[in-house]
Amino acid sequence: DLDAELGRAAGLVREVPDFPEPGVLFRDIGPVLADRDAFRVVVDALGRSHTFDVVVGIEARGFLLGAAVAHAYGTGFVGLRKPGKLPAVADRVDYALEYGTAALELPAESLIAGQRALVVDDVLATGGTLAASRKLVERAGAEAVGASLVLELSPLDGRQAVSDWNVRTLFTT
Ligand code: AMP
Repeated sequence: DLDAELGRAAGLVREVPDFPEPGVLFRDIGPVLADRDAFRVVVDALGRSHTFDVVVGIEARGFLLGAAVAHAYGTGFVGLRKPGKLPAVADRVDYALEYGTAALELPAESLIAGQRALVVDDVLATGGTLAASRKLVERAGAEAVGASLVLELSPLDGRQAVSDWNVRTLFTT
């Protein structure tokens, strides 16, 4: 059944200590993507019970998941990119990380005002990335209906950064 299939998918998330730097326990969803059944059940679950016209995926693993969700649910896909990658930028949001800063850019001629956008990514940590994504969606005049992610790292309490938003995660650790 669905719960069993999702449970098996959860077991495929690999934990990599001290990556990309000492003290970080990295969650690698690569094995989930590589497994035919796990990939399908996760992609289906990410799109379920949201109503959306477009998927917004966050570089880079949010591209892999989000484009698959968009295809499965019959919508288009918009990728939010790290700085310096896009040939034409519509908007940019800078945000704080635990150490340092990061930024995301919205491509030109992508989101359309009034579209209902579902944001997709792999891991919810501090929530800063999701909050920045939401800001880009809303400044484009689109409606940020919510976000779907594979894994929530609950000790980091990322939900407080997006507490007034419909954020759904498939697995929590
Ligand atoms: P945050 O903005 O702190 O919620 O971080 C979320 C973003 O960083 C996502 O795009 C994740 O891919 C990535 N990320 C943060 N922490 C981890 C982790 N422990 N394992 C894998 N990815 C992570």
